[in-house]
Amino acid sequence: MGASALQYGQMVIRDVDAQVLVVGAGPVGLTLAMDLARRGIAVVVVERRYRGEPPSVKCNHVSARSMEIFRRLGVAAALRDAGLPPEYPNDVSYRTTTTGRELSRIHIPSRATRYTDKSGPDGWWPTPEPPHRINQIYLEPILFAHAEAQPGLRILSRTEVVGVQQSDDGVKATIRELDTGETRTLTGRYLIGCDGGRSEIRRAIGATLQGDAVVQRVQSTFIRAPGLLALSTEKPAWSTFSTNPRRSGNVYAIDGRELWLIHNYLRPDETDFDSVDRDRCIRLILGVGPEFPYNIVSKEDWIGRRLVADRFRDRRMFICGDAAHIWVPMAGYGMNAGIADAANLAWLLAAVLDGWGAPAILDAHEAERWPITQQVSQFAMDHAIALSRQRAAVPGDIEEPGPRGDDVRARFGKELCELNVAQYCCGGLNFGYFYDRSPIIAYDRAPHPAYTMDGFTPSTVPGCRLPHFFRRDGRSLYDALGAGYTLLRFDPRLDVDALVTAASDFGVPLDLLDIAPEERIAPYTHGLTLARPDQHVAWRGDEVPLSPVNLIRRIRGALTMIPEKAA
Ligand SMILES: Cc1cc2nc3c(=O)[nH]c(=O)nc-3n(C[C@H](O)[C@H](O)[C@H](O)COP(=O)(O)OP(=O)(O)OC[C@H]3O[C@@H](n4cnc5c(N)ncnc54)[C@H](O)[C@@H]3O)c2cc1C
Repeated sequence: MGASALQYGQMVIRDVDAQVLVVGAGPVGLTLAMDLARRGIAVVVVERRYRGEPPSVKCNHVSARSMEIFRRLGVAAALRDAGLPPEYPNDVSYRTTTTGRELSRIHIPSRATRYTDKSGPDGWWPTPEPPHRINQIYLEPILFAHAEAQPGLRILSRTEVVGVQQSDDGVKATIRELDTGETRTLTGRYLIGCDGGRSEIRRAIGATLQGDAVVQRVQSTFIRAPGLLALSTEKPAWSTFSTNPRRSGNVYAIDGRELWLIHNYLRPDETDFDSVDRDRCIRLILGVGPEFPYNIVSKEDWIGRRLVADRFRDRRMFICGDAAHIWVPMAGYGMNAGIADAANLAWLLAAVLDGWGAPAILDAHEAERWPITQQVSQFAMDHAIALSRQRAAVPGDIEEPGPRGDDVRARFGKELCELNVAQYCCGGLNFGYFYDRSPIIAYDRAPHPAYTMDGFTPSTVPGCRLPHFFRRDGRSLYDALGAGYTLLRFDPRLDVDALVTAASDFGVPLDLLDIAPEERIAPYTHGLTLARPDQHVAWRGDEVPLSPVNLIRRIRGALTMIPEKAA
């Protein structure tokens, strides 16, 4: 069987190697590929790294919204079982140094009690999947193994994309096998660059990054220090912030035993990483003397930026994740924003490739994700600036013994918690964002509820995330949704036949989900709510619209007129 007809499990793809070529098997590329494969789309992922090779130690937080996506992809449970030991506290602790006095603490349950402990600031969140603290070095191999097992998904490891082309019908990627140097061509219908911050695909589509090139410099060091836990008398924490006039930084527990990631936030005048004494700063942050033993596993100094590509697409090629945006990962929203991009793009591509989505449905991706990317990156940057101001204002007497020092620590500790709870329990970024200028959403002029980094109001205004609730039998609403559109009906007397028929006539996958009126929660203000495949609201009403066909045309991308934006 040649390159023109490949077998993927039960599927045989003719003419092209895959329907979608994905460049890069980072968290974003893998999520996109899994979501596509789950929808029956044949995907080839090309990745430079070895098969299942972990990345460098980077992101430590998988947001609740990302976990909801992973739940849909069937990998949430495996991820939840990995990371820190089950009982290890996931709290954020503010201290004078890692081994010094604790000023305050944000409670985030350990994974053993993550589903049951509601006492923390994120305990009330309406989600089946609370956030998860796990480093990318553990996350990615699990995603990789899960992706690799999907029928219809192939990953070419130790292979790089060295050139791309597109025509009206499809895309071509020139790939090079890194171990043999052999090059060949792969063909597909679409190509998605999930190839990280230095994306070649971004360049190939003529996109440029725009924004703020330097927000914060961070000297980042991954260390092994088996003796560190025992030096502290305070309860362990996932993230420990050292706040003292000498050096501010934070320490992430990676394995809960001996591995730690230290972020040394450089001061504005420290513009050269190499001129800052790494060892001295590490010891100041940890609060240990020259005799304390540790060894460096790796170093990855980085500059926090706020850069967003001026476009995410050129015809058949798209960019997602760090390829499309890079910013200070405040609130852990570097990787998680990319995972949201992937979940948005996957079903739109599948709709076109399955034949029920009009090609214009793909315009929704940039129309929806670009404004959100701007907003979230702005939140992150504003927060980074506020934190840097707070670091510069650490009271000089914060370590003073006795009641006066206790007062200072209590006051500053409270301020630290108040500022940071928004980023560590960022409900608004998880659940509050909405798509308010999409060509495939039927707006009804109701205003979208405003959101902040941590604050949000669950709502069924079209464009919002579908408000989640648990059914009477304890099951998650999200688990009851179909893979395509789902029409939630809260009154069995509402006749929806005309809408169901219109969907069927156009081949639009639509499931009807009847929900007893007593299960209905406040945000469901209408008898009918139409959920998209990505759990956002596409439409709502108290009866089927006068022209069900027009609604179906709208949601399949066949109405080219942009709908009037909600008020
Ligand atoms: C030091 C550091 C700390 C961070 N901390 C956080 C954090 O706390 N929270 C957070 O949310 N985010 C954090 N981030 C950001 C987060 O790691 C990224 O947002 C995330 O990895 C982006 O995922 P991605 O899949 O888009 O890109 P990447 O993870 O960069 O993956 C891109 C993949 O593409 C492959 N690739 C590239 N070019 C090619 C090619 N031509 N051919 C084949 N393969 C190719 C690469 O090998 C790589 O595997 C941090 C980043 C850094 C650097």
